[in-house]
Amino acid sequence: MQLVVVRVDEIGLKNKNKIFFMKKLAENIRKKLNKQYSFEISNNRIYIISDSEEINKKELGNLIKVFGIHSYSIVEKTDLELESIKKKVHEITKNALKTNNYKTFKVFVNRAYKSFPINSQELAPLLGEFILDNFPYLKVDLKHPELKVEIDIRRDGAYIFTDRFDGPSGLPVGVSSNGTVLLSGGIDSPVASILMMRRGMVLNAVNFYSPPFTGPKSLNKILRISSIISEYSPNNFYLYIIPLTKIQFLFKDLAEKRYSVILQRRSMLRIANKISEITGTKVLVSGESLGQVASQTVENLLTISDASKKEILRPLIGFTKNETIELSKKYGLYDTSILPYEDSCSIFLPPQPATKANVNKITLIEDSTPEISKLEKEALNESKKFEINNGSIREITDFKN
Ligand code: ATP
Ligand code: MG
Repeated sequence: MQLVVVRVDEIGLKNKNKIFFMKKLAENIRKKLNKQYSFEISNNRIYIISDSEEINKKELGNLIKVFGIHSYSIVEKTDLELESIKKKVHEITKNALKTNNYKTFKVFVNRAYKSFPINSQELAPLLGEFILDNFPYLKVDLKHPELKVEIDIRRDGAYIFTDRFDGPSGLPVGVSSNGTVLLSGGIDSPVASILMMRRGMVLNAVNFYSPPFTGPKSLNKILRISSIISEYSPNNFYLYIIPLTKIQFLFKDLAEKRYSVILQRRSMLRIANKISEITGTKVLVSGESLGQVASQTVENLLTISDASKKEILRPLIGFTKNETIELSKKYGLYDTSILPYEDSCSIFLPPQPATKANVNKITLIEDSTPEISKLEKEALNESKKFEINNGSIREITDFKN
């Protein structure tokens, strides 16, 4: 019988909650695979069992986007008889050689079930000899084998396989509450989103744009970024798009231009807080990193945070730009993030932004600008909502505030 064994790493260290994490992971895997498979959870493993004989390898490639998986293998299961094991080893080696021109191999035995009468030190060379006898052009290489034949002896049977495919590790999305990410079309916030999902958080997103200064290409870019993020999400991913132009003009025309970015960010946060309230998320997430630009000094981050009722998580706070870029490439975001379409903020950047904005000063400005709250409400009313499922995008018109 052919099946897939999924291994976990971090979840395996959990004690009391392990079954909750494992069930969530199994559910997320099921949502990623088109066909109906059945699932069995056994301690640190999930078995994916197919009704038909063949498991669709290509479809399994989707598992690279399921957080919580350490690795997986397509395995043949057989009963705990030496002859049955040999038969499967023969079959698996033959199949591996059909598609690969391997010259060397090694047998790995893990005897988790200690009552099996042959121990691993005996079984490995025994099966090695068996392979040598049947496939004379293969040679043993204990250090760098091209073909690895692994035999896992468990109470309920022997599991035999040749390949371990990597998963993305982390925790299954859905075990760590939910948040609203402030998602720009840049490099940082999409990576921040993925990092929070990798810790098990369910996300929705708000993006601010500046019509007519940011055109359809910018909208298209943020939708493409959201699509990529949605592939890591077992559920629908919701994106709220909010026009910021009027608010930006308001701050641009103030006497103290150097505060305009901070004021704009505070408005963004107040609006994001509203979206978070409406959609019932617990925290906000942003892509800020300490010292990266003028608005990301400690003083300015504090002044920005002051406008938010909800806690803001900043997973990139200690990252270098290069580290973030590496992650952006790793998660398939980079090529889209560097498309040259204007971000809503860059258009209204003042020549010399303040690096140490003081909260009192900023609240004084806000208090003497009563239009702010009216324009924020308006912006929220004019927002658009998109539902993105595994890359397919649908605008939802019945969004009520
Ligand atoms: P990013 O690469 O994510 O755009 P950045 O390096 O350009 O970040 P800033 O422009 O200072 O830095 O933005 C800081 C954070 O504020 C972003 O990471 C994002 O969370 C949020 N943000 C900025 N612009 C927008 C926007 N137009 N819509 C939504 N969130 C935004
Ligand atoms: Mg940006």
